[in-house]
Amino acid sequence: KANRLFHEDDSVIDIDGVKVGAENFMVCAGPCSVEHEDDMVALAQKLKAAGANTFRGGAFKPRTSPYAFQGLGLEGLRILDVVKKETGLPIVSELMSTEYIDEFVDTVDVIQIGARNMQNFDLLKAVGETDKPILLKRGMSATMKEWLMSAEYVMAGGNDNVIFCERGIRTFETATRNTLDIQAVPVMQKESHLPIIVDPSHAAGVRHVIPSMAKAAVMAGANGLQIEVHEEPENAWSDGQQCLTPDEFGDLMQSINMLLDIE
Ligand code: PEP
Ligand code: MN
Repeated sequence: KANRLFHEDDSVIDIDGVKVGAENFMVCAGPCSVEHEDDMVALAQKLKAAGANTFRGGAFKPRTSPYAFQGLGLEGLRILDVVKKETGLPIVSELMSTEYIDEFVDTVDVIQIGARNMQNFDLLKAVGETDKPILLKRGMSATMKEWLMSAEYVMAGGNDNVIFCERGIRTFETATRNTLDIQAVPVMQKESHLPIIVDPSHAAGVRHVIPSMAKAAVMAGANGLQIEVHEEPENAWSDGQQCLTPDEFGDLMQSINMLLDIE
């Protein structure tokens, strides 16, 4: 079902009124983890003014160490709901297990499946039974074929609203957290009618690499971007080293909008 053969035209996914795919560009921005309510609302207002059309934030976080901050959990979902009511921005957040699927369906507009769960087939089947748009991040060692098959798991359940997200893959290189596979954009767009966005934040893992990679993604024809932003990156509860400040995000959006105009 994800294959171009069965759907010649680009699919356009509707995220509570925000369209993604074909000529419609998704700009998903926000912190790695959901933090204090007032800070989240203030940040979301800035991001919206700068050009974001969806807000991201993790309430449940897949951390490498069990001793690291694991996310605010259901309290985080409540805060995301406030952000949506205050700003009107649709909400993107990661679901890690089927346990909270009902709460996610009630609260978020896009269910993110993280890199670490790209092949959690029970989770994929469960979200395939919802009608929520699914942001399917690429597993850190997943081939594009495997990634396509994960989309197939979601679609087999009847949910055709899948958006791919390239977020960097593991390579021998250690200068950056992962290696952004920009080739995924044209390859996946040839193989599939589904939109693909790029997350340069988790690919780079370091702030200074992000603007150039975001622009490269646009020029490669990506259908959107996911970018981590924090008011005070040095105090972020997770992934601060790769967060842009709202000002840096604003500057980047100006370049992106220029590139989208000439494309
Ligand atoms: C995230 O989006 O915060 C995240 C954990 O991403 P990934 O699953 O791509 O590592
Ligand atoms: Mn993160």
